[in-house]
Amino acid sequence: MSTLNKIQKVLIANRGEIALRILRACKELGIKTVAVYSTADKDLKHVRLADEAVCIGPHPSTDSYLNVPALIAAAEVTHADAIHPGYGFLSENADFAQRVEESGFIFIGPRAENIRVMGDKVAAIEAMQKSDVPCVPGSDGGLDENPIKNMELARNIGLPIIIKASGGGGGRGMRVVENEDDLLNSIELTKTEAQSFFGNPEVYMEKFLTTPRHVEVQVLADEHGNAVHLGERDCSMQRRHQKVVEEAPAPGIKPELRNKIGSICAKACQAINYRGAGTFEFLFENDEFYFIEMNTRVQVEHTVTEMITGIDIVREQILIADGQELSLTQDDVVIKGCAVECRINAEDPNNFMPSPGKITQYHVAGGLGVRVDSHIYNGYTVPPHYDSMIGKLITHSDTRLGAIIKMQNALSEMVIDGIKTNIPLQARIMEDEGFQEGGVNIHYLEKMLGESH
Ligand code: ADP
Repeated sequence: MSTLNKIQKVLIANRGEIALRILRACKELGIKTVAVYSTADKDLKHVRLADEAVCIGPHPSTDSYLNVPALIAAAEVTHADAIHPGYGFLSENADFAQRVEESGFIFIGPRAENIRVMGDKVAAIEAMQKSDVPCVPGSDGGLDENPIKNMELARNIGLPIIIKASGGGGGRGMRVVENEDDLLNSIELTKTEAQSFFGNPEVYMEKFLTTPRHVEVQVLADEHGNAVHLGERDCSMQRRHQKVVEEAPAPGIKPELRNKIGSICAKACQAINYRGAGTFEFLFENDEFYFIEMNTRVQVEHTVTEMITGIDIVREQILIADGQELSLTQDDVVIKGCAVECRINAEDPNNFMPSPGKITQYHVAGGLGVRVDSHIYNGYTVPPHYDSMIGKLITHSDTRLGAIIKMQNALSEMVIDGIKTNIPLQARIMEDEGFQEGGVNIHYLEKMLGESH
């Protein structure tokens, strides 16, 4: 029996490694679990380990993991109290969060209105500016139809600028403008794209930062007005806006700067009445933070923060959703050592093509400070229908170099046969001089791969 107030059974509305991660946190808390799965996913590890499992539809995500009525029905028939959305799928869908609560279940995440505001970039930036979170200099709101005004705005901000869709996400709906001659045409093009991709033609303008790093701050907030930050992560090693390697803390960030930006984020949570785990994403250039967006869910890379703080973020999410007060104050958050995470993808390390199929041999890395969050096992078949990430390898040591060396060992120990993985690429990154030095910008990996344009 759990010691929780309201949550005795959680439905996990996700798949893969994060579903297993959530299942583990529930088990430790003494909470029962319900796995939901598509017909392609009946052999997932967490489906086998859960107390109950419900098939919610065929493999296309729209028919299963994005099928709201099927998820609610599964929660009803299994008498679950709460739904954990994980990341991706419905995790940042405000309408889903609202439907969950209206159907009488607890949504393990923020209030629907917080998700809604943060899902609209213009509204999110407005809310952040009110809370003194530093933002990228820009148009401070959606652009109107006035070409003279828009040209003046761009000149005042200074080229290059970036036009971004208010409803955008996943790296889509953005256009960089280097020359004044291209400005008006680019605004129109981005508007048209925004309407067709996101059903919202609103676009806005920001200064384009040329060599930023991606640094993000993890927060936890309860519904009683308490909020803490858990320091920052550096996720600058990206390819096509997808993070490949993450680490915490971010190289070169001094404790004073960490505390300053962290407490701004914690205060912003209080100001917007935020509840749950969340991440403030920033571009970081010349020692300045510029807010780009807030993620209102647990992130893939939450693990590196867990390793350096010893705080189980998924457990905290559940306790917060249960209505409990945060059990820790800011002073209780102590950062120890450095952690690095390599995402392990089922893909060809040379051309990045997905490589689904049966895993014929699996030998897992281990040792002190080595963590493997993965749902794969010997004989498991990676289906072709979903994201290619099949796990995460995380190392933790007193120093950054120590964590990198552990990662090199761990990568060399991992054996995943039958499919191709990006392990050789990750080994190459760990050996790279620039990466080892630390603090590279978001274009570094593509340059290293010879892919930059
Ligand atoms: P999405 O929600 O689509 O992921 P973001 O606003 O988070 O969009 O931006 C995605 C990526 O685009 C950033 O990580 C960064 O690489 C780039 N980007 C966004 N805004 C800027 C900017 N003002 N200057 C430079 N790069 C930017």
